[in-house]
Amino acid sequence: MSEILTEEFTVSFTSHAASTRRQFLNRLGLLGLASTLPVSRLLLSPGSPVSASTLSSSSTSPVIRNRVPLAPNAFYFLPLGSIRPAGWLRTQLQIQASGLSGHLDETWADVGPNSGWLGGPGESWERGPYFLDGLLPLAHLLDNPHLKSKAQKYIDWTLEHQALSGMFGPTTNDDWWPRFVMLKVLTQYQELTGDPRVVPVMDKYFRYQLAELPKRPLRDWGKFRWQDQLLSVIWLYNRTGSAYLLDLARLLHQQGYDWTALYANFQYTQRITAEFLKLEQQGNGLKDLALATHGVNNGQAIKTGPVWSLVSGSEVDRTAVLKMIFELDKYHGLPNGMFSCDEHLAGLDPSQGSELCTVVESMYSLEQSLAIVGDASLGDRLERLAFNALPGTFTDDMWAHQYNQEPNQVECSLHHKPWTTDGLESNLYGLEPNFGCCTANFHQGWPKFASSLFMLSCAQNSEAGDGLVAAVYAPCEVRTMLRGTPVHVVEETDYPFRGVVRLTVNPASALAFPLQLRIPAWAAGAIITINGQSTPSAVPGSFAHIERTWKSGDRVELVFPMKPRVSSWFHNSIAIERGPLVFSHGIGESWVKLRDRGMTADWQVFPATQWNYALNIDADSPSKSIAVAETEIGNHPFSAHDAPVRLRVKARKLNEWRAEDGVANPVPESPVVSDQPEETITLVPYAAAKLRITAFPHCKN
Ligand SMILES: [Zn+2]
Repeated sequence: MSEILTEEFTVSFTSHAASTRRQFLNRLGLLGLASTLPVSRLLLSPGSPVSASTLSSSSTSPVIRNRVPLAPNAFYFLPLGSIRPAGWLRTQLQIQASGLSGHLDETWADVGPNSGWLGGPGESWERGPYFLDGLLPLAHLLDNPHLKSKAQKYIDWTLEHQALSGMFGPTTNDDWWPRFVMLKVLTQYQELTGDPRVVPVMDKYFRYQLAELPKRPLRDWGKFRWQDQLLSVIWLYNRTGSAYLLDLARLLHQQGYDWTALYANFQYTQRITAEFLKLEQQGNGLKDLALATHGVNNGQAIKTGPVWSLVSGSEVDRTAVLKMIFELDKYHGLPNGMFSCDEHLAGLDPSQGSELCTVVESMYSLEQSLAIVGDASLGDRLERLAFNALPGTFTDDMWAHQYNQEPNQVECSLHHKPWTTDGLESNLYGLEPNFGCCTANFHQGWPKFASSLFMLSCAQNSEAGDGLVAAVYAPCEVRTMLRGTPVHVVEETDYPFRGVVRLTVNPASALAFPLQLRIPAWAAGAIITINGQSTPSAVPGSFAHIERTWKSGDRVELVFPMKPRVSSWFHNSIAIERGPLVFSHGIGESWVKLRDRGMTADWQVFPATQWNYALNIDADSPSKSIAVAETEIGNHPFSAHDAPVRLRVKARKLNEWRAEDGVANPVPESPVVSDQPEETITLVPYAAAKLRITAFPHCKN
């Protein structure tokens, strides 16, 4: 979020917590114990009509499909609560819950007891809803009563304080945008709990908004993020069928920014600068230029075409997501799967950054787009972000994060400033480096990924074609209904660190249904076996369809090839990949605390070893020159200490490649010549290296 554009909404940080980190960790132990005690009822506000007994997620809830005249999705999300994380993914969610996500309200005033979303005089804009958008699904995925009760307070206040007009939320602003986010929260909450208050509140609000929008149209963030509210409008239409909701959908489209037109003839192909944006000047036209080249807006916009295509029925709209990703990759793509945005589109140099809000919003856009379009490449990209860019921008304990991360990140310090428009603290690890939007917004990343692992494939308005889709891979358990029969699926895997995925399919009684398995584009030679029998070969970049009558205990095994691969980037540099993981050379790290921040702290990180290596590998057959070592998956799977896979590769120092002000100069054009002796260096998963080189020059063979 740009400080320039959101200044009027900024509320300064106040720390209520005086405890040291160690004191806090001691308390955490006690809290952890308390949270395991039986909880007889959830903490609900007085007078709430909802009892604890009704607040249970149900794996028997039907999937609600698109109602005519909406176009059908390729796949539908299973009702929230149907997928339970297991293995390393559950561990990762627990790390998140034990870190800032589980405690943000205790140490950051913007979502604390004075929040406007609790009726208080504090921050009343996007930060409360952002926090809940991740806290709520995290609490339910872990079935953690303590975290559920935290989220419930804000939701109860919101549901119980709707104005007679239909407006909801804090009365200190009437901005449509923060309400987009709260609607996202309310739809998830209704699916998780069945709370009967949600649908009437949303219905009343949307009727109010339909009447108000002609007088008070979308502007600023709301204008550029309209597709996020459209999802909630479609969600309600699928439940109530009220025709006015389609009028509202068309009005949002009419008033909202035309992202599909922008990317049909994409003009912002260069690194954007403050001068280009004329940020110091004011005016609606200039503001729109800044908003159209804004990273988070573009991350949210990735889903615009598919979401609108449900209303328009247009194939051009439906596939606009692929065109948008193509253009972003071509002009702003980075090896970690992100496009550069620090805070505006920043070109191809891997020393540019990507904002954490953009990572999690791009993931959400990819999840929604994958469900609507059903294109396997969207799942590939989602995994690339989830397994690299997302964990790469947090400390291992998820108590601190960066605003901007870089693929070639050789220092995180106050004098490091390659950014287009962001401030000096942007790549520090801390509570709210640069600006607090990411502090509030990051929580949605892992929980929504976990709830996207499996989806439902089906024919419109018919259960006859219902089946399951393994959309992205991570260990989990699924409980759902297919054609009236309970189906339980167990996915056991150490993917992305290993290439084997084992599914055990347990229908309550023998049941015929299709199972679709995403075969990533990189997975040439993938093998699928069913109960030990091999099946026809899997086609990379598509979904493998398995049609059969499933019996309890049937086992499906996928084996993905995990040979290291090479990809090409800026100045003909190379990145090393293996499966969905991108690998980096981890630079020695010297962490220096800048300041305490309540329960957490802000950190600078300085390089303790040299980093200017060119790789010396056979690009045509990289696996011959890269040695792979696998170790056990520990308690922090994305940390350097526990990195479950390491690569050893030959390299030479490249003395002319230097840093200025802590920023690696643009990676020299490859191939390069180095007279330095050959060394063997170790690469670890991108996320394990908080200082790193990811895009390397390569030596002339
Ligand atoms: Zn942000």
